[in-house]
Amino acid sequence: MTSRVCASLVILFSLHIGTIPSALCEELKTRYATVRYDDIALLQKFNDELYLGRQLSLQVRQQKAFTIQDELQNKLNIIVEKVETVLDMFPAKLYVTMVLLPSSKEVQEVYLQKYGNRVNHVAYYSLSEKTIYLSVNDVNLNVLAHEVGHIVVDHYFPVRPPYKIHELLAQFAEAHVND
Ligand SMILES: [Zn+2]
Repeated sequence: MTSRVCASLVILFSLHIGTIPSALCEELKTRYATVRYDDIALLQKFNDELYLGRQLSLQVRQQKAFTIQDELQNKLNIIVEKVETVLDMFPAKLYVTMVLLPSSKEVQEVYLQKYGNRVNHVAYYSLSEKTIYLSVNDVNLNVLAHEVGHIVVDHYFPVRPPYKIHELLAQFAEAHVND
C-alpha cells in the first residue's frame, strides 16, 4: 500500500539523497492524523522520544494502550486537544498527514525539493498539503506543539490569517503546551 506521499518521497530520495527506502510505506490512522513511516523501528523511536512532560504523561498513562501504536495515538490525541485548549480554538474538522523522517536532513531535503530554499527546520507544516514533515531524531513536545499549533490555526479560520499571526499562534502553543 505505497501511498502517493510515500511514492513521491521515494523518488525524491532516490534523486537527491541517493538512498531509496526499500520497505513499503506504512501508515497509522489516528483521530486527527494519518501517520506515514516506512519502518516500524522509526515509529517505535518516535513513540520513545515523544515524552509529554509530567502533567500530560499522567493523561497518557490513564488511557488504555496495548501496543506502541495505541500509546502513540493516545499521545498525539492528547497533544492536539491540549493545543486546542491553549489556543481556545476547536475546529469542527481537523485532519492531517504526518510524515515521519529519520532526521532533519530528510526534512530539509523535502523542503528544498518543494520550495527551492535551504532551511534548518527539524519539522514543518505544509499548508497546501495539510502535512507535517517531522524529524524523529529531533522531536519533542515543544516541536510538535508548534506544528500542531499551525494545524489548529489552519483548520480554525475559514480565511487564513497573515503568516506572522499564524506563526505567533504556533509559538504561543509551543510555549504553553506544558501549562
Ligand atoms: Zn512555525
